[in-house]
Amino acid sequence: MRNILYIVVPCYNEEAVLPETSKRLLEKYKELTEEKLISEESRIVFVNDGSKDSTWEIISRLHDENIIFSGINLSKNKGHQNAVMAGLMTVKDRCDIAITLDADLQDDINAIDEMVKKYHSGNDVVYGVRSSRKTDTFFKRFTAESFYKFMKIMGVDVVFNHADFRLMSNRVLDALSEYKEFNLFLRGIIPQIGFKSDCVYYERHERFAGESKYPLKKMLSFAVDGITSFSVKPLKIIANTGIIISALSIIAFFWVFIGHFVSNSATALGWPSIMCSIWFLGGLQIFFLGIIGEYIGKIYSEAKGRPRYVIQSELFDDNDKI
Ligand code: UDP
Ligand code: MG
Repeated sequence: MRNILYIVVPCYNEEAVLPETSKRLLEKYKELTEEKLISEESRIVFVNDGSKDSTWEIISRLHDENIIFSGINLSKNKGHQNAVMAGLMTVKDRCDIAITLDADLQDDINAIDEMVKKYHSGNDVVYGVRSSRKTDTFFKRFTAESFYKFMKIMGVDVVFNHADFRLMSNRVLDALSEYKEFNLFLRGIIPQIGFKSDCVYYERHERFAGESKYPLKKMLSFAVDGITSFSVKPLKIIANTGIIISALSIIAFFWVFIGHFVSNSATALGWPSIMCSIWFLGGLQIFFLGIIGEYIGKIYSEAKGRPRYVIQSELFDDNDKI
């Protein structure tokens, strides 16, 4: 069985962690090749996602020191998902298996062994799943877990507590290359591709150094992207809400109409309730228009068909196949 493994690591301003990450990945590479789990032609590929610090210089130095380390330099910051995609599409024809992993050592490097073993036992996709969120703050845990639950409700097929630490075989990468969408949400795409898959459970560590590149604002927009790129359920909910409100209004109308004849109560007192309902419905309409706008925005960016990223330079050794 061919087993050239490429580990793809997206990096955005990761100068603080790269020396340690590269050291640990190299140790893992040696271990895996000694155990004959992967071929010696395997590589560790860092994707520099338009970092403003010395990330690319570190990657270049690592490549000069050891050809095991390769590098891809994007022309500007395009976000985690695009950086991962750039890495995967570049290595697609060079490797048999690819693993994507965060640079900050939060994903457990020791889970790679089991991932590769599961690949050898016939799985095309192996998801790294967090066994617990002990190291997360309450807030992060709560928002993240609600996100997975909400995605399920919205009809998006995601693996619970799995981020972007996963193994994919070459044929999964080929299938992935057919997904041309601009609004990338890999966690939703990969389960859609299918093939036999399995999970590996790991403890997620704290970030080794540096700080998170995913502040709340980015996390929220990522969640909205995930839902609106995969599900039209929100649009259906809007339509259904409209129907329910209309039906209730008709009932209320009859109630008021009949009430007018049956009892003699003066109804002019209803000013506050009228104001409340006007504001409530106004707000609801703007919110719903916003959701529709979100979809139209998606169609707009998809319709332009712009490239998701531009590669400025690559560092691969000459013996590589391409
Ligand atoms: N990352 C990236 N581009 C970005 C933001 C993040 O390539 O615009 C990388 C980052 O270097 C890291 C991974 O994506 O390797 C996950 O980011 P981070 O650890 O900051 O996210 P968190 O774990 O806090 O959700
Ligand atoms: Mg992280």
